[in-house]
Amino acid sequence: MTTDSNWRAKFSNFVRNDVPESSSSYERSANALSRLISNPHTFGVHWNDIQNNPEKFFLAHELLAKRSPELGPGFWIRFTVHFNLFAGTVVALGSKEHFETLEEASKRGEIGCFALTEKYAGVNSGLVVETTAEYDEKTREFVFQTSSDGAKKNWISQGLVADWAVIVARLNMYGKDMGPHAFLCRVREEGTKEVKRGIVFGDMGRKTIGNDLDNAWIQFDGFRCGRGCLLNRYADVRESDGAYARKGGDVNQMSAIGQRLFTGRIAVAKAALTFCEEVFKHTKKYSDAKLCAMRGSNKTLSHVPQLKALYEESEKRLKDVDRFVTFCKKRLSRVLKVRETPSVELQTAIAVCKIRAVETAIELTFRLKQEVGSYALMDEASFKNSDFLQCCKFAEGDSRILSQKLARDAFSGFLKQNSARSIREASICESIRRQIQKYKEDRDGKYNKIDAWDSCWEDVYALADAICDRVMRENDFEGDDNGKDESSNFTKSTPSLVSRL
Ligand SMILES: Cc1cc2nc3c(=O)[nH]c(=O)nc-3n(C[C@H](O)[C@H](O)[C@H](O)COP(=O)(O)OP(=O)(O)OC[C@H]3O[C@@H](n4cnc5c(N)ncnc54)[C@H](O)[C@@H]3O)c2cc1C
Repeated sequence: MTTDSNWRAKFSNFVRNDVPESSSSYERSANALSRLISNPHTFGVHWNDIQNNPEKFFLAHELLAKRSPELGPGFWIRFTVHFNLFAGTVVALGSKEHFETLEEASKRGEIGCFALTEKYAGVNSGLVVETTAEYDEKTREFVFQTSSDGAKKNWISQGLVADWAVIVARLNMYGKDMGPHAFLCRVREEGTKEVKRGIVFGDMGRKTIGNDLDNAWIQFDGFRCGRGCLLNRYADVRESDGAYARKGGDVNQMSAIGQRLFTGRIAVAKAALTFCEEVFKHTKKYSDAKLCAMRGSNKTLSHVPQLKALYEESEKRLKDVDRFVTFCKKRLSRVLKVRETPSVELQTAIAVCKIRAVETAIELTFRLKQEVGSYALMDEASFKNSDFLQCCKFAEGDSRILSQKLARDAFSGFLKQNSARSIREASICESIRRQIQKYKEDRDGKYNKIDAWDSCWEDVYALADAICDRVMRENDFEGDDNGKDESSNFTKSTPSLVSRL
C-alpha cells in the first residue's frame, strides 16, 4: 500500500476545507487537528503511517505545505509535531502498551506534543538536556523536575492544548544519572483538560506569523507519572526488582530519540521546496500579466531580464535539490518500514538534503521578492508568510548546527587519516589545521578548543558547503528506484571519515 488516489482525495479535501485560516485562534486550529486524528477513515491519516505507509506520511506533509504560502506555518507545524515528533517517537521507542495508549488516545482525538528543547539548549536541543526524571522506587513513578531556569522546556508546539507529551528528560535511578530518555505522559486530564499537578505551562508570546499555533514553555515541579510511561524499547525499569535494564543491544537513547529528526528533516526539506515553488508559481502568474513601460518586444514583467534569468535559474536549482530530497525520502521510507536506523551515509545525505533545500528556498524566495516591485508588499502575494522558511531553518536540526557537524566529522577524519573525500575538502581541512596550529602557538598551548575552531569559522562553513556539493554530486540519485538495498546507491565511504549526525 502506498498512496492511492482515493486517499489523496480525502486528505486534499481536509486540507482545502478543514484547515482553518491562519488568523484563527490556536484552539480552533487544535480542534481541526483533533478531528483529523480521530477520523482516520474519513481523512485517511493514522498515527502509524510513519511506519506502515511512510510514502503517505510524507505526501500528507507535502500536500499541507502546498497551502503554506497562504496559511503560514501554524497548521503544518502542528501536524508534523503530532504525527512525526510525538507519535513517531512512540512508534520508534515504545512497546505494545504504548501503541495501545496511542490508539485509544487517537480515537478520542487527543493531541500530543514533543517536549525536547530547553531554554539554555536552544538549537543544541538534544545535546543539552537538564530536565530530570527521578525514579521513585516506593510508588513506582518517575518524578519530573525542572532543575533551573535554563532547563525549562521552551517553544513546545501545541503545549497549551496537548493532552499528551513525549517528554525528554535525564533519567535518574537511585542517584545515578542514566542520561536522556523519552517518556509518554498524559499532561492534561481526560475530559476536563485540567493540567496535571506538578506542571506549569506558559505562552511563549506572539510571533510574526503562525499564531494559529500555540507555543509553550513548560516547568516541571514534582510532576509524577507511572513506571509504564518510559518508552522502553531499548531500556526499561524492571517490574520485578525496579532495576534499570538495557534491551535490544547497546543503543544510545539520545540517538534513538533523534530518529524522528531524520523523518522531520526530509519533511521540512520538502516543505521548504514546496513553499518556494508555490511562491514562484503565484508570482509568475502575476508577472506574466503585468506590463512594464520602456520594454522591447515582450513587455511583461516576466521578461525583464533579471527576473527572467531568476525564473530559469530557480527552475533548475529547485528541480536538482528536489530530486535529491526524493532520493533520500525513498531510502528513508525503506528503513522506516522495517523500524531500523538509517546508515551513516543516509544520515549524512539527509543532513545535506535539509541544509540545501532550506537554504536554496530561502535564497530564491528572498531574491524573487526583490525583483517584483510593489507586488512584494501585497497581501495577496505569497511573501507575507516567508517566515515559514525561517521555521524550516531551525526545525529538526538548525542549518548551522548540521553544517558544523558535517565539517567537524570531515576534519576529524582528515586529522586521523590525513585525507579527505575530495580535493576541495582536503584543501580546506589543511587550511583549518594550520589556523588552529597557529592559534595554539600564539597562546603557548593554553587555549579553548571551541574558540580555536570558531577562529576559522569561515573555512568551517566552506568545508560544510564542499561536503554538501560532493554528497549531492556523488550519489546516483537519478535511477534510484531499482530495488537495490537502502545503502547501495551511496558511493562507498570510508567509515572512519564520517560519523553519526
Ligand atoms: C515555531 C516553533 C516551534 C517549535 N516547536 C518545538 C517543539 O514542538 N518541540 C521542541 O522540542 N522544540 C520546538 N522548537 C524549538 C526549535 O526546534 C529550536 O530548537 C529553538 O527554537 C532554537 O532555539 P533558540 O531560538 O534559542 O536558538 P539559539 O540556540 O539562540 O540559536 C540561534 C542561532 O545561533 C546559531 N547557533 C547557536 N548555537 C550555535 C553553535 N553551537 N554553532 C553554530 N551556530 C550556533 C544558529 O544559527 C541558530 O539559528 C520550536 C521553535 C519554534 C520557533
